[in-house]
Amino acid sequence: MNFAATDDQNMLRAAIAKIVQSECTPELVRQWDSDGVFPEDVYATMVKAGLISMVVPAEYGGMGSPMSDCIILYEEVAKPSVDFATRVALQAWGASILADVGSEELKSTILPAVANGEMKLSFSLTEPGSGSDAASLSTKARKDGGDWVISGQKLFSSGADAPDNKIILAVRTEKTDKRHDGISLFLVPNDLPGITIRRLDVIGRRILGLSEIYFDDVRVPDRYLLGEAGQGWGYIGRHLERERITLAANYIGCAGSALDEAVNYAKERRQFSQPIGKFQSIAHMLADMATELECGRWMTMMAAWRYDNRLPCRKEASMAKLYVSEMLQRVTATGMQVLGGHAYTTDHAMQRHWRDARNATVGGGTSQIQRQLIARELSL
Ligand SMILES: Cc1cc2nc3c(=O)[nH]c(=O)nc-3n(C[C@H](O)[C@H](O)[C@H](O)COP(=O)(O)OP(=O)(O)OC[C@H]3O[C@@H](n4cnc5c(N)ncnc54)[C@H](O)[C@@H]3O)c2cc1C
Repeated sequence: MNFAATDDQNMLRAAIAKIVQSECTPELVRQWDSDGVFPEDVYATMVKAGLISMVVPAEYGGMGSPMSDCIILYEEVAKPSVDFATRVALQAWGASILADVGSEELKSTILPAVANGEMKLSFSLTEPGSGSDAASLSTKARKDGGDWVISGQKLFSSGADAPDNKIILAVRTEKTDKRHDGISLFLVPNDLPGITIRRLDVIGRRILGLSEIYFDDVRVPDRYLLGEAGQGWGYIGRHLERERITLAANYIGCAGSALDEAVNYAKERRQFSQPIGKFQSIAHMLADMATELECGRWMTMMAAWRYDNRLPCRKEASMAKLYVSEMLQRVTATGMQVLGGHAYTTDHAMQRHWRDARNATVGGGTSQIQRQLIARELSL
């Protein structure tokens, strides 16, 4: 096992960093966050540079990059904004689900359109009554001729209201004794008649946005069913491993930015006639931030390596997600302390990283649920 970056990976990182730094300046990101607007033009530039095609399989117009390369993409894109990077992650998750279980027709039409930026994907599992207990979802679809008719409500759907977005939607198609059975996945264009999407007013993650979605007898053709009816929970299970590694990589990017900002500030800010970084208490805070970041990076790389090598990685993906999300909250909170009162103004990105980080231990499965999943692997 060799975790040293290859020359190609170093070149990839440098190329992505160059695009991200020129397109996502601190001033622009501050504006996107305060307006709650996703920069479609910047996303288009990233598509044009081939970054989105990395997460689409090679047979369907993408580059089919391994997870070990994709985590470089996620980390670099998340440096200016972890929320912006969630758009890239959504493309990756959606493309993987489609590649796993979509029909040949859907794969050959949707995946090339994802790679070339014409289409976006989001994922709606959570409902008002089902969060951690996701399998107790109650949005329903019933068969009617050659269509399915969907009714119900989803909550907390990242990026669902984007133009040209298709929602990968988990619904109940069969009432069964076991709640994990009878769940199906559909690909649902977000502009079908009967769909109402409402943006939620949120404290962080304001760029991509979070929505609730109402489905009022929405008709979806049978060809938009993903895989087999009733098998959706199994498909979601496979997806969650990828999701957790991706999220960990995103959070590494955000934590790296928080550390950089704190170190730069500690070098420049002077109190008692010296830079505050000369005070041991501040220097040790920064040392802890750097150590935890490094630890999280190795855990994420290990999980990605296992994923690429088709080794079991459920436990490692949950461990990486658990550790890195909690690490991100510690690092951004410490970063806020290092910047003192200045952290409390929107002049500094630290407060945005800190607000965005609040969701890290909740979205994609809470810390409590990750611990439960890890404990299950310990043969207790
Ligand atoms: C910014 C953001 C983006 C999101 N994006 C998406 C998205 O794109 N698609 C999507 O489908 N969902 C999305 N979610 C939803 C997210 O996955 C859920 O919020 C999360 O799974 C938790 O569900 P909940 O909020 O209903 O909390 P609950 O499940 O109600 O949990 C409340 C508390 O109880 C604890 N708890 C629950 N069950 C247990 C248990 N068995 N043992 C111990 N503790 C427990 C939880 O850990 C938590 O602390 C997003 C959420 C946010 C905030």
